[in-house]
Amino acid sequence: MRKVITNDMEKCVGCNLCIRVCPMEEANVAYIENGETKVRVDNDKCIACGACLHACNHDSRSYEDDTERFFLDLRNGTPISLFCAPASRASLTEWSRILALLGNMGVRKMYDVSLGADICTWGHIRYIQKNNPRSLISQPCPAIVNYVLMHRNELLPYLSPVQSPMMCVAIYMRNYQGVTDKIAAISPCIAKTNEFEESGGLVSYNITFKRLEEYIKRNNLKLPAQGRGYDHIDSSLGSIYSMPGGLKENVDFMLGKALRIDKSEGQKVVYKDLDTFRKEDPANLPAVFDVLNCAEGCNLGTGCRHDKTLFELNAAMEKARQNAVKGRDREYFEQLYQEYDKTLRLNDFMRNYRPVPVRSIKIDNNAIEEAFVQLGKHDDENRTFDCGACGSDTCLEMAQKIAKKINTHENCIKRAHDIMKAEHATIVTWQKNNTEAINTISADIDEIKVMTDKIVSTVTDVDKLINLYDMVTKDIDKIASNVHMISINASIEAARAGDQGRSFAVVAEAIRSLAGETQKATAKISNATGEAKSALGAISKMVTTIGEDVTKANSDVREIAGRTNDLLKNN
Ligand code: SF4
Ligand code: SF4
Ligand code: SF4
Repeated sequence: MRKVITNDMEKCVGCNLCIRVCPMEEANVAYIENGETKVRVDNDKCIACGACLHACNHDSRSYEDDTERFFLDLRNGTPISLFCAPASRASLTEWSRILALLGNMGVRKMYDVSLGADICTWGHIRYIQKNNPRSLISQPCPAIVNYVLMHRNELLPYLSPVQSPMMCVAIYMRNYQGVTDKIAAISPCIAKTNEFEESGGLVSYNITFKRLEEYIKRNNLKLPAQGRGYDHIDSSLGSIYSMPGGLKENVDFMLGKALRIDKSEGQKVVYKDLDTFRKEDPANLPAVFDVLNCAEGCNLGTGCRHDKTLFELNAAMEKARQNAVKGRDREYFEQLYQEYDKTLRLNDFMRNYRPVPVRSIKIDNNAIEEAFVQLGKHDDENRTFDCGACGSDTCLEMAQKIAKKINTHENCIKRAHDIMKAEHATIVTWQKNNTEAINTISADIDEIKVMTDKIVSTVTDVDKLINLYDMVTKDIDKIASNVHMISINASIEAARAGDQGRSFAVVAEAIRSLAGETQKATAKISNATGEAKSALGAISKMVTTIGEDVTKANSDVREIAGRTNDLLKNN
């Protein structure tokens, strides 16, 4: 099956929203790349329901259609006719002027899918009247057909064999109007690409409203002032087919509520309802189960821009309804159906289905148990935490996906939260221990500071003593010098006294020699005190520097302690 959904992995932020909204369990694969979660689409499992396109707020999800190829072929002269979905009246701004533009660019015939919707309703009614099936699932919606063909083959016997309105109008164009051109669909639906692929080339292009409007804008194509209509016979209530319950309203209108038609719309519920339908007691099933993939039907289809409010859409549909029934009674429409009976062959509008093989991943309980262990979920309380942040509704579902290797335990937000909590607790403990160590270091530094202050004070005292000692030494030196002078004078006086002074001269000489020795000794002391003073000066300088460093270290440590305490308080 042709790939519809595309993924820009660079833009994916791993928010898991695509997983959350996807009705297919295995269509999204989460993985870790460079430590970051990424989620990619698995197109072999994707039914092109489009839910992820609108959920993804990061432009990672997009889709492919045939708009570029259509315009290229048109410019190259390929003969092309088109049909346009009734949802255009609600969702496609300036739809009739867009048709006029396409006509000017070379599109030949243009048909309204409302006609195909009328044929589709006619086909359903005639098929039911002829075959009286137990219950039918309507199939205007290709995403739902994809679901049945790919994932729920058990529902195939219930799937209506009547073609969708778009295929009905295409068959009508080819078989009854002689249109041999390539046929293009202006459609609100991305999954129509798959339906047209199955049509054996009957419809060549799926041009979604959104891409068409983008193309016109990007290429600055000017819309003609005048719009244009369609080239075909009139249609009836088929013009409201695009709204939820459109088929039901059509059948009720024709059969006066003779058939019970139940309906379900929207990706969130319709696939669950189909699963319930599959298991339901047949006695409870309706004649027709009218199902639509999109909650607001094709008016807010997957290929629309979604720029209109619900009320704008409903107002446009009401206008279409009034135009369709204006001045006409039921008899008019009955005659229209009788005209179909005469001119159309029911079999032309019947479809055969070919199941699309999809390999679903098988897992056993051991693999699920292992996944729970990887998730760090060892008890019931944790295994039913079910926060949904991983995109799965329950932890069990997530464990199953991990076992299937389409998700990873690293993508469990609760697990990541628990790991962060444990790491935070470790950091808090570390901070507490650190604070104690810092306080001890700070106290030690305080002691060192006290000791350095004491050393500085002791060195200062010693310096004072040395100064005193130096002064005393200088005084002794002065005394010795005076004694030396006196002894010289005494020697002179002893020499003048002759023999009587001879013994005095000996004494004077001894005193002079003693004074000389004293002076030599004080000179040595003076040298030593000088050296001691300069050594003390160096010690004092060193201790002062140590004191300053210690003071700085102490203030740094106290700042660290303060910050650590603040951190602790804030956590
Ligand atoms: S929605 Fe999906 S694809 Fe988009 S960013 Fe989130 S995880 Fe990625
Ligand atoms: S288009 Fe639908 S089925 Fe496909 S991945 Fe998106 S949400 Fe799932
Ligand atoms: S706890 Fe984890 S596995 Fe469970 S739902 Fe939340 S994120 Fe998913």
